[in-house]
Amino acid sequence: MRRLTHIIILLLLPVSSFTVAGPLQKADPAAIRRPSYPAPPERQEERDAMVHTFRQYSGATIAVTDQGVIQAMRHVPRHLFVPAPERANAYRDAPVPIGFGQTISQPYIVALMTQLADVRPGMKVLEVGTGSGYQAAILYELTDQVYTIEIIAPLAERTHRLLEDLGLVGIQAKEGDGYYGWSPGATFDRILVTAAAEHIPSPLLRQLKPGGRMVIPVGPKWGNQELLLVTKSARGGIATRALLPVRFVPLTGGG
Ligand code: SAM
Repeated sequence: MRRLTHIIILLLLPVSSFTVAGPLQKADPAAIRRPSYPAPPERQEERDAMVHTFRQYSGATIAVTDQGVIQAMRHVPRHLFVPAPERANAYRDAPVPIGFGQTISQPYIVALMTQLADVRPGMKVLEVGTGSGYQAAILYELTDQVYTIEIIAPLAERTHRLLEDLGLVGIQAKEGDGYYGWSPGATFDRILVTAAAEHIPSPLLRQLKPGGRMVIPVGPKWGNQELLLVTKSARGGIATRALLPVRFVPLTGGG
């Protein structure tokens, strides 16, 4: 029953129209700052309750036990990544609309994907599907090398401004089609895709380092998808494991 509940609350919203703006600039590495969240952080009790809620899940779900992930979820002020009219709902264990027909993912799924990625300090991590910037901020709690790409230009611009306002300028954010990864020659220790692909994009497999991991929902658009853990061996062999049924908005682009 719990499993069904998760599938249902992952249901996302229809895509709305948007205007196209210019590409984002990369952050100046010399200007990298750590987050400057309000101290003491507002709504800490709600964050603690959010973590408590998803830690109770059992049965068909996968438990979130990684202390680094739990600490990150307790620290990052999720409500600041949610548009003002939706802030009251920011700490429910559910996706929340962020405009442009997109959503910030359910906290449990953010935590689970981060745990599955097994991010360690110093690792270079790519997120495909910046959305609100929340998942990127969680990853940035675990490593300084976070790259994130968003295909909807005005959403990418809005989130880039938010990341700057929060002092998260060390996160490399750009607008573009993440089906093709960051750039042809780039390589990453970890890749998280936060929109559902119909197949694993081969450019992302190429950009995954030997020994790397990718977490990606794969399946039909607007249908039942599987969250996959993809690993690349030291010799470049690919192994794939289906872990959980999910529903994400589609990965668009890819020609
Ligand atoms: N990770 C986000 C967060 O923390 O708010 C939520 C991601 S939302 C479920 C999926 C995002 O993927 C949307 O913002 C969508 O525009 C983006 N997206 C879809 N296809 C994409 C592509 N080819 N390249 C980059 N972003 C893409």
